[in-house]
Amino acid sequence: IDPKQIRNFSIIAHIDHGKSTLADRFLEMTGLVSDREKKAQMLDDMDLERERGITIKARSVTLDYKAQDGQIYQFNLIDTPGHVDFSYEVSRSLAACEGAILVVDAAQGVEAQTLANVYLAIENDLQLLPVLNKIDLPSAQPDVILEQIEHVIGLETDDACLISAKTGQGVDEVLEAVIRVIPPPEGKSESPLQALIFDAWFDSYRGLIILVRVFEGRMARKDKVRFMATGSEYDIDEVGIFTPKMAKVDSLEAGQVGYVIATIKTLDEARVGDTITHVKNSCESPLAGFKETKPMVFSGLYPTEAADYASLREALDKLQINDSSFVFEPETSVALGFGFRCGFLGLLHMEIIQERLEREFNLDLVTTAPGVAYRVTTKSGETMMIESPSKLPGAGDIEVFEEPYILGTILTNSEFVGGVLKLCEERRGIQKKLEYVSEDRILIEYELPLNEVVLDFYDKLKSVSRGYSSFDYHVEGYWASNLVKLDILVNGDLVDALSLIVHRDKAQSRATLLTAKMKELIPRQMFDIAIQAAMGARIVARTTVKALRKNVLAKCYGGDISRKRKLLEKQKAGKKRMKAVGNVQIPQDAFLAMLKVD
Ligand code: GDP
Ligand code: MG
Repeated sequence: IDPKQIRNFSIIAHIDHGKSTLADRFLEMTGLVSDREKKAQMLDDMDLERERGITIKARSVTLDYKAQDGQIYQFNLIDTPGHVDFSYEVSRSLAACEGAILVVDAAQGVEAQTLANVYLAIENDLQLLPVLNKIDLPSAQPDVILEQIEHVIGLETDDACLISAKTGQGVDEVLEAVIRVIPPPEGKSESPLQALIFDAWFDSYRGLIILVRVFEGRMARKDKVRFMATGSEYDIDEVGIFTPKMAKVDSLEAGQVGYVIATIKTLDEARVGDTITHVKNSCESPLAGFKETKPMVFSGLYPTEAADYASLREALDKLQINDSSFVFEPETSVALGFGFRCGFLGLLHMEIIQERLEREFNLDLVTTAPGVAYRVTTKSGETMMIESPSKLPGAGDIEVFEEPYILGTILTNSEFVGGVLKLCEERRGIQKKLEYVSEDRILIEYELPLNEVVLDFYDKLKSVSRGYSSFDYHVEGYWASNLVKLDILVNGDLVDALSLIVHRDKAQSRATLLTAKMKELIPRQMFDIAIQAAMGARIVARTTVKALRKNVLAKCYGGDISRKRKLLEKQKAGKKRMKAVGNVQIPQDAFLAMLKVD
């Protein structure tokens, strides 16, 4: 295929603006999907994606399109997730493209992730094609939104398409505009092979599947290739494209996107961002890889049953092949036993990983409250990253205590500005920008400590603005703060998993709220349970869970057997997520109490 007939592009947008729906229309209109196979959001095939209605893993699909000029074009479309936690996926996909379709909801307009995605695309030198979607909605205001795109993003809108991905109106125009606006790839099939690995995952039947963009040269079955970063060499077993099912082809040529299968055991040997070349006639230097993603949110993951430790480790290993942005290392906790300290890109990322572990690997887990990585310089001049509050040196040994700050971008309606500003101020924010993007839409920028954001910032933001806000952030750096460690004790035993680091001004109120919440969450047992919060040796808050007076079963002594059995079953189910601290049973909810305390 002549590279001039190829177009590699992504669809980027804020969440729910219609990327996946537009991708569905493309699949139908190019005849790849028959009516019988049709279902909404074809490319979101992971269970979790379908249930949550969001795209987690980027997908690629090759479409043949017969244009109005009568020629056949090959489109490689890469669907990307829109959520801030998955921007590394977006960024990787963009490296495989020459352009991107920027979808903007014609009723909602530019949102926080619209901006974040545009910046990523610009960093990758991509040509953008603006598309206003949902013009079928009565609330659509295409003129206002076009003006917004020009004003806020600084993007010319002469080529913009006005469409409804839902009804299909205007979608054929988008396909034509792609050919006109997005440049074809430049590589040559005769050059030495240079192929970028931009994703990889493990398939239980096929083994490791590698997603590549061939920049130069061609790659075929039986070729001997080398992965340049690791130096490992393999024979290629199969190359192919996604239609969207995997379909074998004879070769992948310069400009094309597709998959490669070789008998590779681990992702370590085929790293995302690495370049594949031939063993003979190899290219001179690898392609620029990807910026390493740094996990910013940490939490402990422990098996409910100690015996599941080995299966948890195996599951984490497997998940990491699919998602290298998540990290883990073994950790032991007095309260929870053997488990792992895990690092995630953000809160949603954390939730998704936990849910995948429980579903795909059938594990029962206890997760500790999420925290950020702090930077501590000791009096002796040593600098260390603290990913777990229990690893913090004593207060007397700390010279400098720093925490990560983000620059947060919020778009909201003018009527909610008061509430949004109040929330940001409460979270120790520093205002950087406040500007109107259209008559009643406002863009606000704040510097905020990440720690104040991981807890429940986004939920709070949605509630103060009745859902009419969007939020995105990137980490700015580490700044010194007045921070202290707060410990929780249950009947005098320190529950290390519940320790947390907070700003000194908030320590007392957090301590009071936490102990109150713990009191609600720890079920009454046969004895009194004292719950205390301490800063160093000083107890700053305390509550007591009073002993139960009667045995649960005593109530139905001699009574209805089936009722008794039901009670026992209920107790058993409740115990599933319990951990013993000393002789006290603590439910998993208690470990997550911090999440919900304001
Ligand atoms: P994504 O998160 O960007 O992938 O968005 P989706 O494609 O999942 O769409 C989000 C929601 O918007 C879904 O409920 C779609 O049915 C709806 N939607 C998408 N395109 C249109 C459109 O053109 N008009 C209307 N009215 N709804 C649309
Ligand atoms: Mg989607």
